[in-house]
Amino acid sequence: MGTLLNGFELAKKRRTELKDKVDEQLNKGNRAPSLTVVLVGDNPASQSYVKSKKKQAEEVGFTSEILILDKDASELEVLDTVTRLNNDKNVDGILVQLPLPKHINEDTIILAISPEKDVDGLHPLNVGLVTLNKGGTKPCTPKGIMTILNEYDIELEGKNALVIGRSRLVGQPIASLLLHKNATVTIAHSRTKNLEQLIAEHDIIVVAVGIPDFVKASSILPHHVLIDVGINRVDGKIVGDAEHESYEKAAYATPVPKGVGPMTVVSLLENTFETYLRRIEREEI
Ligand code: NAP
Repeated sequence: MGTLLNGFELAKKRRTELKDKVDEQLNKGNRAPSLTVVLVGDNPASQSYVKSKKKQAEEVGFTSEILILDKDASELEVLDTVTRLNNDKNVDGILVQLPLPKHINEDTIILAISPEKDVDGLHPLNVGLVTLNKGGTKPCTPKGIMTILNEYDIELEGKNALVIGRSRLVGQPIASLLLHKNATVTIAHSRTKNLEQLIAEHDIIVVAVGIPDFVKASSILPHHVLIDVGINRVDGKIVGDAEHESYEKAAYATPVPKGVGPMTVVSLLENTFETYLRRIEREEI
């Protein structure tokens, strides 16, 4: 039986460390870091995500606000809100909760967020810098995955990594981050053929497709490192993209729940704190 990579416990440890760093800044007389989350509409899943982000931000000593706009708010209203937050010197991090209602163009809104305050790492400038390995804010889920791999000393250099899924939120950026750690990376997607064979040929399998039980336990080999990013609701339960039995078959696996999910939120807090520190250094605070 392999090792479960406990994202839940690691996230708890990272939050404690972050709280200490925040206290250190407060003791120096600096104000607390601040995170503002913009929620447009009343999607229940989004409501629960933003509440959890605010709660965890406050637990580490940040100030945090949720700005709720009506589901019929125009694109201009959302842009105005983002511009106001860009110019507010008391706001360090801005996160616009996705998905946005259909009548609002997500790219337009993401482009409007100041790259400095883009703690989700989705602004094209950050995407470009991260892709080129030239700094930039890393998107939260891929950042969280790299933190887990690092914590458990999982060797990446020279390993064959298969990323299943090519979304801008997960698949593409995790592929870049693994590449920068000298893994040999293959990206699979809905048109990829012979996925079973590809899985067998690789060492690290990251699955982010959004289909329950997509990766079968029978495909997993004892040397595999399996990172299950999926969050799927089935019969009131949260399940991943890999069959539950696959976690035991791999050398290492992130389970769902309590794997990648908690690391995503702590990465958001870490991104916000890094932005805050940069702003202190530049005397913007
Ligand atoms: P997404 O934007 O819907 O992308 C899904 C990807 O899966 C696409 O690239 C798609 O390929 C690929 N795909 C779909 N069917 C496939 C198939 N049969 N074979 C191979 N690839 C296939 O999803 P996402 O935002 O990346 O999220 C993926 C999952 O991760 C979801 O369950 C989501 O809830 C979860 N998630 C979790 C966290 C977390 O914090 N743990 C964060 C973000 C997302 P094409 O590009 O060809 O369509």
